[in-house]
Amino acid sequence: YTSTFHNNNVKSQCSCSVTSLACLGRWVYWVSLIFSPFWFWFLGRDGKGGGLKPMDSEQLREYGHQMVDFIADYYKNIENYPVLSQVEPGYLVKLLPDAAPNQPESLQSVLDDVRSKIIPGVTHWQSPNFHAYYPANSSVAGFLGEMLSAGPGGGVIQGTASEAILVVLLAARDKTLREAGKSALGKLVVYGSDQTHFALQKACQIAGIHPENCRLLKTDSSTNYALPPEIVSEAISHDISIGLIPFFLCGTVGTTSSGTVDPLYSLAKIAKSNGIWFHVDAAYAGSACICPEYRKYLDGVEEADSFNMNAHKWFLTNFDCSTLWVKDRNALIQSLSTNSEFLKHKNYLRNHIKLARYFEECVGQDPRFEIVAPPKFALVCFRLLPPVDDNEARGSNKLNQELLEAVNSTGRVFISHTVLSGMYILRFVVGAPLTKRRHVDAAWKVLQDEACTLLGSPLQENG
Ligand code: PLP
Repeated sequence: YTSTFHNNNVKSQCSCSVTSLACLGRWVYWVSLIFSPFWFWFLGRDGKGGGLKPMDSEQLREYGHQMVDFIADYYKNIENYPVLSQVEPGYLVKLLPDAAPNQPESLQSVLDDVRSKIIPGVTHWQSPNFHAYYPANSSVAGFLGEMLSAGPGGGVIQGTASEAILVVLLAARDKTLREAGKSALGKLVVYGSDQTHFALQKACQIAGIHPENCRLLKTDSSTNYALPPEIVSEAISHDISIGLIPFFLCGTVGTTSSGTVDPLYSLAKIAKSNGIWFHVDAAYAGSACICPEYRKYLDGVEEADSFNMNAHKWFLTNFDCSTLWVKDRNALIQSLSTNSEFLKHKNYLRNHIKLARYFEECVGQDPRFEIVAPPKFALVCFRLLPPVDDNEARGSNKLNQELLEAVNSTGRVFISHTVLSGMYILRFVVGAPLTKRRHVDAAWKVLQDEACTLLGSPLQENG
């Protein structure tokens, strides 16, 4: 597995298997699933399996403690690992067994595998010595929260399908009201069928949609209780003709009463042509669609604005976990975010910017280096100047490329590069939660030492 960082003229490939502690946790989770499917269910105290046997609370305590100890040790030792993975891409393939085991393995052996096989391939994005790219962080508090909610992560996780439907209804409502004006709330109309889960009506109530504007269109046995697209079209046209504003249509994959699937593609087309948000509720049957033979029931979902399915229904995931996907996440953010967390976050950001300024000062005091593009945030672009007798830009580029390689191969710091006006420029970002001034000092020392080696001259006074 290779993670690629790609941003205009900044392009680099990291030979890493895992890029953050959050990923590491997920690796343990996925490794446990991959190596021993449903390990959490099958594993008896003797680790020999023996039927569908959920872990009891004492086993959970024992394994949970081992897992937390493992992760706490990782954090404690994070500075001792080479920040940039030192392995070659593909190293892991050779270490993996040819086939997944048929019997569950103990947690200890899974953790041993992670320690000996996975961690050497990790580029430690959470390391305080990671200065290569803009941050992609996890936090210990976030990790504990994830543990408490037992969610698998990814997308937007809601508690229940009802919450998911409410959230997208609010996003769609506010999107429409931004165009139509707040006073148009009384004109907004929602569409579903008489088979749509009651969650839609509840969401309408909470979102302030008038009950008479919630159209639960009639279905019958002629369509196996699926929502007929022509009835939806007619209802929408009628509502528009009397001055109402259709804004939300909910289709279902696997209705609660009879497991019916609405014709997603046709409904999506109608929604699109009328500027309506189309949501697909697959609370129950969405799980079945991981099997290729049932995936056809999702045909047309690619046209939807949002989709939810309950991992806690049929995915062996702890209650509650309804995964919600939204095509336009900005609509959700604009509808539901407030500023208070941003305000609290200010000091955290300012501190990173202050450390980057400090690094900039260090660079500015060494006449062998120059700052390129004055920094505004926590990214410092700089380069080592070629010796006075070498005025060719190509010479300078090669020098900086060599410096980057020398610095990164120490494993003590990880920086990246970009190209500006044909010049090879070094990038130093402060963004990891654990980075302190001493890490910036250490990184600068590595840079200076490697520059001395390359230039073949000792560090000058005041350098
Ligand atoms: N949608 C459908 C199709 C369902 O079958 C259900 C529950 O069975 C729901 C929504 C409501 O799910 P939740 O209890 O997660 O809100």
